[in-house]
Amino acid sequence: FGAPDTSYLDSLNPAQREAVETLDGPVLMLAGAGTGKTKALTARIAHLLNTGRAQPREILAVTFTNKAAREMKERVAALMGQDIEGMPWLGTFHSVCVKLLRRHAELVDLKSNFTILDTDDQIRLLKQLINAEGIDEKRWPARQLAGVIDSWKNRALTPGRISGGEGEEFNGRGVRLYAAYQARLQTLNAVDFGDLLLHVVTIFQKHPDLLEQYQRWFRYILVDEYQDTNVAQYLWLRLLAGGHKNICCVGDDDQSIYGWRGAEVGNILRFEKDFPGAKVVRLERNYRSTEHILKAASAIISCNKDRLGKDLWTDETDGEKVRLIGHWDGEEEARWVGEEIEAMHSGVSGFAKRRKNPRSKTPDQEFERLTKGGRVSEHVAGDIHQINLQREQALSPAGVGNYKIPQSVGLDEIAILVRASHQMRAFEDRFLSIGLPYRVIGGPRFYERMEIRDAMAYFRVICQPDDDLAFERIINTPKRGVGDKALQEIQIAARSNGVNLVEGARIAVADGLLKGKAKSGVAQLLADLDRWTSLNVQQIRYGVEDEDALVEDVAYEPAEISHIELAEKILDESGYTKMWQNDKSPEAPGRLENLKELVKALEQFENLAGFLEHVALIMDNDSGNDGEKVTIMTLHGAKGLEFPVVFLPGWEEGLFPSQRSMDESGTKGLEEERRLAYVGITRAEELCTISFAANRRVYGQWQAQMASRFIDELPADHVDVMTPNGLYGAQGNMGAGRSLDDYGQDSSPSRFQERAAKADVYNSPGWKRMQQRTSRAGTPRSPVTIEAKATVAFTEG
Ligand code: ATP
Ligand code: MG
Repeated sequence: FGAPDTSYLDSLNPAQREAVETLDGPVLMLAGAGTGKTKALTARIAHLLNTGRAQPREILAVTFTNKAAREMKERVAALMGQDIEGMPWLGTFHSVCVKLLRRHAELVDLKSNFTILDTDDQIRLLKQLINAEGIDEKRWPARQLAGVIDSWKNRALTPGRISGGEGEEFNGRGVRLYAAYQARLQTLNAVDFGDLLLHVVTIFQKHPDLLEQYQRWFRYILVDEYQDTNVAQYLWLRLLAGGHKNICCVGDDDQSIYGWRGAEVGNILRFEKDFPGAKVVRLERNYRSTEHILKAASAIISCNKDRLGKDLWTDETDGEKVRLIGHWDGEEEARWVGEEIEAMHSGVSGFAKRRKNPRSKTPDQEFERLTKGGRVSEHVAGDIHQINLQREQALSPAGVGNYKIPQSVGLDEIAILVRASHQMRAFEDRFLSIGLPYRVIGGPRFYERMEIRDAMAYFRVICQPDDDLAFERIINTPKRGVGDKALQEIQIAARSNGVNLVEGARIAVADGLLKGKAKSGVAQLLADLDRWTSLNVQQIRYGVEDEDALVEDVAYEPAEISHIELAEKILDESGYTKMWQNDKSPEAPGRLENLKELVKALEQFENLAGFLEHVALIMDNDSGNDGEKVTIMTLHGAKGLEFPVVFLPGWEEGLFPSQRSMDESGTKGLEEERRLAYVGITRAEELCTISFAANRRVYGQWQAQMASRFIDELPADHVDVMTPNGLYGAQGNMGAGRSLDDYGQDSSPSRFQERAAKADVYNSPGWKRMQQRTSRAGTPRSPVTIEAKATVAFTEG
């Protein structure tokens, strides 16, 4: 057979090659974004296999997200030119640890078929324990305890190992509750996520013989995104690599973004101490992004004090500057991004035309693309296919089989990366209404989130009292003392009287079927529902019923309160908002943000019923996983990934950097946010667009936003400041602009109000500050004509 084919080495630069070929002993690859760390890591796996140093099952390769693990597998397979299904130990920390724990569960007194609890189960369990201890759960919420316990587990602390001030957590009872929780998990034969690592570390520490076995078994260990390991993960790795020390870690201190979850960037710095004689490889050439993008990212990260510091360079000296644009509000931002994407995708945008390496496809691939995404009918795709085949023929003989159709910008080449998941809603709504396929990665889509479903269940009952499912969802959310038994009584009452659950509940209360807390709780809920329902009816009656009517014709008295105010009222009076405000868990602030976002979404509808219908249609519109789609995800989830075109919306103080990081004393939180900005920009290969809104509407009130401080840090030479003029008819610089005429055709009164409101926005201090900021960051290409727009809007409105 001859020597193994090592052609994968040819595509590496000397430094990468060194890292790949140094197979024995510890190797640390410490380098900036896009320098080919992951590429080298995968080449190293291929090389280990190819040179016969290790069997696939003898390689332990870990990373952080499932997506990253999948990609790593694919990359190795591509390098090897074959499937590598046989790599059982390539995965996330969690997936690998589950496997290990199932094998040795009995060593921590579990059975191998243990269940893994999700956060909800975990919280429920903790609540029981808190109540059993006689602690006031309102003052000491279970979620807070869950957070404390997680942070202990992240640091590999079992109850017995917690000492000193730590024990004071949770009113001095944290440790005891932690121990009780662990005991309870054991009787349930269950673990939580944190246990997966903790148990395995415990097993290895207690059973050196077993550890030794695994040290021999995993002959080579590789870790991607090493900067984000927490203490437990670090200990686990150090134990496993302790024998042969064949460990290769790659990471970038500038991309450490999980400090809030216990990651310790210090693990990187400690590497050389733990593994003396480690080969440290530094990479400086970035292969991913153009120079403008790289310079923008470097300028921002250089504002961090706490970093090792490194230089990056690239060959890609031309290309597009980073684009910066401000919008009136978040909806406008989403609208603009949608239009930009459509223009790129159809090839009319300047960028699409200038693009150096458009992805091209053969006629067959193009046919598949068109039909698979459901973009055009088979019939039309067939016609296009014929034309492409003829073109190919015309180029024959050399052309046949070689003809490639240049493609503008594929939807799967585009990503929108947000700081907070509530930002996704505006984009999802917008894309759905213009029929732009998208996928949300890492987490449910907006309307599938728990708190959104809860809130909408309230709206559903009010609009549609027969919606028993919705009523069941809210009857004890927040807690009203309605247990299973009370619910059963209500269900029986409803069934035997042939009425819906709301009416059933009325009967149950009237007939004295409910006792104590359940009785008063249900009575209160019914009274609330009645009040909200009457306000809602009024809303519908006075709302705009005839969409075709001219504005002047619609003489209507305003309802007492708008549906937006009604929604807020419901969330407040039901105690639902309060429930999350009292919640001290790390997710609670995000859930509250999502609720605010939900209320914001209502603005585009005339009433609650219209909104619910819209959501129902949206949910139905999930076209599965086929076809090209725009990716929407959080910045955290995008780590390690790359996209030709990246949109980074919402760069505003309080959003990005987050309010929490700004409130913190010291710069630790802010520096982590800045690293997140660096991660975001460095995801882009060819085009990066940063945007911000002058105003966001929070609970029906305009709030002036300040552009993010990170925008000030952008280097003017590498940034194009765009103005939204193109959107409003003035001679703007955007290809995909809308003119005022587009708006003129839209004569619904809410549009006019919206426009008037927007005009006000231009006079707001937020907008003016924003203008100053953008002009500092770079020179606007054309003067801003906000005043003109404001006048137009006022006269029309
Ligand atoms: P991040 O820090 O964002 O995880 P990374 O250092 O892991 O980035 P990779 O994802 O491995 O970088 O590589 C970035 C891009 O550069 C990829 O598209 C990869 O194929 C390409 N690349 C890496 N090394 C080379 C090389 N030597 N020659 C050509 N392209 C390369
Ligand atoms: Mg990587």
